[in-house]
Amino acid sequence: MISVIKAKNYNEKIFTLRRNTTFKTPQKWDVIVNHITEGLMPGTLAWLENPKAEVSCHYLVTRKGEIYQLADLHHGTWHAVKHSPTAKIVKERSALANLYTVGIEHEGVHKDTQGRLTAAQYEATLWLHKYIIEQYEATFKEPFLIDRDHILGHYEVDTVNRSITDPGREFPWEELLTDLIKWDKERKMVKQDPKNGPYVNDRGERLWFRVLAGSYKTRAEAEAALKELESKGFKDSWLMAAYVKEK
Ligand SMILES: [Zn+2]
Repeated sequence: MISVIKAKNYNEKIFTLRRNTTFKTPQKWDVIVNHITEGLMPGTLAWLENPKAEVSCHYLVTRKGEIYQLADLHHGTWHAVKHSPTAKIVKERSALANLYTVGIEHEGVHKDTQGRLTAAQYEATLWLHKYIIEQYEATFKEPFLIDRDHILGHYEVDTVNRSITDPGREFPWEELLTDLIKWDKERKMVKQDPKNGPYVNDRGERLWFRVLAGSYKTRAEAEAALKELESKGFKDSWLMAAYVKEK
């Protein structure tokens, strides 16, 4: 079971941690930025929790697959400063990248792992990406765009102080995007629910489909057609029978 653990000093290290920077309300956080910690547990969590360390992020995903939350999604954290970015969205926007991005740190040291995740860590970050996407959609009432423009690596926001090693040469981009797109398709698919009516979508909304049974010259023929469909298990509320006026 994947769950989110609230870290020490939760919500403490938001924008106020930078001197001369007043707290700003973040804009829509429609971009996720993935990182590598270049440190291991428990030190790496202690560093992120330490008020004196002038760095923060929203989540930390450990190699064991634990997820620590360090700040509320609605608060900006200091994890990605824009510096000669290659990411299209970051280039286009004048706002501080920290104001519209969610930062996920992944426990790991690049020289040892090249950014590869453990199986448990991958499952946890996949779960977390889905969770953030759902939170975004519940908050802003619009779909989160699942693509490489909106799911970035730190190296795409800052090419000066960072390189491909953050989050890593072998960070599982392809697997992550493929799994997220597959999940997105599945959750949008209409499912049949034999108990509660004909069809429900993933939001539990009922979708009623009506079947045009055909048109008949006499009422008797139409009713016979209706009876036949009912005998096959269709309920009358599903049907729209077109009657023609009998002469
Ligand atoms: Zn980073």
